[in-house]
Amino acid sequence: MKYCQGTLCHTYDTSDRKRGVKGSKTNQTRKRTQFDYGDGNFCTLTCQDDWFRTHGTNAVNHFGRVESPIILTEDNAWQRQYNQDYWGDRTQPQWVERNTISKATRECEQ
Ligand SMILES: [Zn+2]
Repeated sequence: MKYCQGTLCHTYDTSDRKRGVKGSKTNQTRKRTQFDYGDGNFCTLTCQDDWFRTHGTNAVNHFGRVESPIILTEDNAWQRQYNQDYWGDRTQPQWVERNTISKATRECEQ
């Protein structure tokens, strides 16, 4: 079990956030085995957005702010795409990588 990382999760008034004995229940951060947002860290997109509003700028500064444009070149232009050949021939890989500049195709990790 883990807690939603949303900084305001406990402020949203829903019955599943109420914990404690009758008469002294409190709203608490959601706790689950799995969350579906923000790489499994947030219970909703709202909680993910709350976290980013609180910590986003610090996180970007910590991990490295983009200070100049990142240029698309043939080396970094590979994108994972569905392999159309897979429709007619299930022995073909389901996914391939296509280069958006050279239009070349290569195998990728399935
Ligand atoms: Zn939450």
